[in-house]
Formats: sequence, structure tokens, C-alpha cells
Amino acid sequence: MLLHSIDEVREVVQKWKTEGYKVGLVPTMGALHDGHLSLIKKAKSICDKVVVSDFVNPIQFGPNEDFDKYPRTLDTDMKLCDEEGVDIIFAPTPKEMYGEGQRLSNNTLTYVCPPFFYVNTLCGKTRIGHFDGVCTVVLKLFNIVQPDYAFFGQKDAQQVIIIKKMVKDLNVPVEIIQCPIVREASGLALSSRNKYLSEEGKKDALVLSKILNNIKECYKKGIVDVNALKETAYSFLTNKHDMEYLEIVDKDTLENKTAADDNSIALTAIRVENVRLIDNIYLGE
Ligand code: AMP
Repeated sequence: MLLHSIDEVREVVQKWKTEGYKVGLVPTMGALHDGHLSLIKKAKSICDKVVVSDFVNPIQFGPNEDFDKYPRTLDTDMKLCDEEGVDIIFAPTPKEMYGEGQRLSNNTLTYVCPPFFYVNTLCGKTRIGHFDGVCTVVLKLFNIVQPDYAFFGQKDAQQVIIIKKMVKDLNVPVEIIQCPIVREASGLALSSRNKYLSEEGKKDALVLSKILNNIKECYKKGIVDVNALKETAYSFLTNKHDMEYLEIVDKDTLENKTAADDNSIALTAIRVENVRLIDNIYLGE
């Protein structure tokens, strides 16, 4: 069932709740691929009813980011959701979510602002306000759907950590389930933004998973010094790659480390053909 209005979603979910159903929410920005479908499948395996939100959230995009050109494929998304047995696709307009005139405005909307430490590192260093926009829309979705479980991908590892923190700090009654990264056979992590890449760009984009796998191999061989591990990455880069960051931090708290351990995660953001790609790997698994 495709629903566009908050009231309709609330009505259907309230009915489910009175019938005792466990409800799962999978927040997405649409342009669904197998990564999203893995979250939906996990939700179907745990919950009686599954809501997928399909909303390109304007307030998490910076002024020079790709909000306008972000792929929007609602018809295909609906078919995929039907095949997976999704109960509701919630596809609101920005106006339904934020009312009039609030797009990208900090002055007319109550925002959820996670602690500075969490948002001023990794992706947050260049994407100013991004995680405020993410947390704001996710909390709104939690309040609209009131799910028992919500499903997020490790692909956006910093995002899940920040959302878990928000849920804990604000006592939101939802359990966050994190799902593993789905990759192409080549190793490239699936992403809606891969659509922007040429065939050659997709090959160049393999550098992200290569760097991360190499760091993990070196760690498994006994190299723990974070700087030494990061050094191993640079030989993979060519002039096709514009690295924004490569960090090895604690997988639960994002705290910096000087020596990697089994609780570490290596994360990177690299631009290829001016498309910003992110990927990460747990060193301990
Ligand atoms: P997005 O539509 O990009 O906002 O992503 C919606 C959700 O799907 C987020 O929780 C992402 O982390 C997750 N996701 C995106 N790509 C992947 C992937 N390759 N594997 C697993 N989860 C993913």
C-alpha cells in the first residue's frame, strides 16, 4: 500500500498495534537496490508488518550537494517492495514532512542536533548539518510510525552510531537493528549514488573496498599502528581518486585510536568522477 500522508500511516499502524502486530520500519531515500532489500528482508523476518519510507530528505543535503539530481524511482521501488511483501511504502512530499518554506532552513524547524563529537568527524567534517537533518527526519519517522524495530545498514556506519545515541539519549522506544553491507561481486558496496558512475568510474571505485580489505589483512598480520595501517592505503590511490578521509576508530563510539584492535572500524570517503562514495570494514570480524 502506497501512502503519502502522515495521518494515513498513523491510522493503519495504530490499527496494527491494537491487533498486537510487531511493526518494523526501514527508512530509505528510495532508488532501492539489494542493500535496501536486505534490510527489508531482515525486517520481514522479525516483524509482522513492515513500513518502508521512501523520502529524499531535503534537510540532510548541503546547498552544494546532489538533492535535485538524487535518483527518484518510486515506481520501481513499489514493485520491489511488493515482491518483498512490504505492507506500507510511505512516500511523503517535503511539504508533508516539513510544511511550507522549511527546506534547508534552520530557523523554522525544531532540529535534533547530535553531540558535536559525533557530527564533527568523518562524514560530518564536510557534510555540515547532515546528521542534524538525518536525526531530525529519523525521529520524525519514529514518531509517525512508532515502530518496534528500525533497520539501518552498516554501509552508513557513522549514521547508525549516531541514531543509536539519539535513541538512547531521548529514550525513543525502538530497537535499532544493524544489517551488514551488501556488495557487488566486485567488492563495490551498493549505493544509490553508484548510478552516477560511468563503467570506468565503477572500476575506479573499487579502490574503496581494496583499501579497506588491505588494511584488514595487514591488521590480521599483526600491524596495529593506525598510521602504519593508513599508510598502506595510499599506494592504491591514483589521480582518479580524491580521498576525503580514511580513519580507524572505535566501532561503537567513533573515538580515535593510535593502535587498532578487534573493536576497530576502518572507514573511508573517496570521490570518484566527483561522486562521493563511502565504505567501511570491521577489523575484528
Ligand atoms: P539510503 O537510501 O541511502 O538513505 O539508505 C537507506 C538505508 O539502506 C540505510 O540504512 C543504509 O545504510 C542502507 N544501505 C544502503 N546501502 C546499503 C548496502 N550496500 N548494504 C546494506 N545497507 C545499505
